[in-house]
Amino acid sequence: METTPNTTKKETYIKCKKCGTEVFTITNGNLTPCKCGAISVDGSRDLVRVLGKPEDYEEIQK
Ligand SMILES: [Zn+2]
Repeated sequence: METTPNTTKKETYIKCKKCGTEVFTITNGNLTPCKCGAISVDGSRDLVRVLGKPEDYEEIQK
C-alpha cells in the first residue's frame, strides 16, 4: 500500500458522466452546474451537495 505525503492536498471534483465537465466542489455558496446541466454542485470543505441523478456523476480526487 502506497503512502501519500501529507503535503499533497487533494481536491475533490464532481464529474458529470454526460458531458465530462469536472466541477470543483467548493463553490462558496454558488450552485454551479456542469455544461449540460444534468448536475449542479454546491459545496464547502465540510459539506458537498450535488443536485442530479447519482448515476449521472462521480466524485473524483486530484
Ligand atoms: Zn453535464
